[in-house]
Amino acid sequence: MNVLVVGGAGYIGSHMVRILDREGHTPIVLDNLCDGHRESVVGHKLIVGELSDRELVDSILSENKIEAVMHFAAFAQVGESVVNPAKYYVNNVMATIDLLESMRANDVKKFVFSSTCATYGEPETVPISENEKQEPVNPYGFTKLVIERALDDYAAAYGFSFAALRYFNAAGASPDGDIGEDHDPETHLIPIVLQVALGQREHITIYGDDYETPDGTCIRDYIHVDDLGAAHLTALEKLEPGKGIKLNLGTGNGYSVREVIDACRQISGKEIPEVMGKRRAGDPPKLVANAAAAKELLGWVPRYQKVEDVVETAWAWHQSHPNGYKSE
Ligand code: UDP
Repeated sequence: MNVLVVGGAGYIGSHMVRILDREGHTPIVLDNLCDGHRESVVGHKLIVGELSDRELVDSILSENKIEAVMHFAAFAQVGESVVNPAKYYVNNVMATIDLLESMRANDVKKFVFSSTCATYGEPETVPISENEKQEPVNPYGFTKLVIERALDDYAAAYGFSFAALRYFNAAGASPDGDIGEDHDPETHLIPIVLQVALGQREHITIYGDDYETPDGTCIRDYIHVDDLGAAHLTALEKLEPGKGIKLNLGTGNGYSVREVIDACRQISGKEIPEVMGKRRAGDPPKLVANAAAAKELLGWVPRYQKVEDVVETAWAWHQSHPNGYKSE
């Protein structure tokens, strides 16, 4: 299948491109390279441009005989979305609707969408199932929820088929060792801790230890980026006209910030100094997936269950690419 991977030069998108290729599909990447890296998609067709450029997207869909679109091009920082919501509404909502409209005009109706556990806000029941009410507590989560709702309507009215995949915390790197996480600035826990291990930062600041969790630090569900990719692939193959599926993608195992730091110490063999900081605005205490539905519907079971195994792949990437793609 010819698959347009929007944001395919980004962290999760680039791992997806590799999996699609390996499984016999033809990925075509559209990325504006604002956060993505050309080096992460070497050997694949890359079109550098804006998702909001309707003429460009129309021509890509028709000229490449695209049958399905996977959409990874979104801004995804909770804190930033609070300070600069316009950036999130313009890109995550408006440009995505532009994309859906281009698909409609070109009769491309298969869509795999990166959604998020942030659509649940502060869940009442953890592990979180898909039936949990969706009440996002920040603009980022809300922009993703808006698109989920739009997709319901596009499926019902226009026969779109879609999968909205609600990621928990994407982490790790390809075991191939040549693609991985490289954000600037980096805000995510595991890469920051490993930068401390590499001596690039003096310490890791823990954002609060006064949460109602066993060790007081926040608990998250860290899902390996290749496991995410595998779920996307199966979801794509299972799409049915006029129908949508919405699934959590997580391991079901929660790790506290302290446990993640300890795992990084164990894998890297480095001391990793820590400093206690204040809570970060918008951080719910505990987000862990109930991933039973993805298992049942897709037969998907994450290969990387333990955070140590996820960290091991990330550590290999950071060691071989201490400055990310700039190291090459
Ligand atoms: N975190 C932290 N220090 C950091 C970065 C993150 O203590 O320098 C915590 C953060 O508060 C959250 C967890 O680590 O509880 C995961 O944060 P991350 O930004 O990686 O992902 P998020 O859960 O926000 O999507």
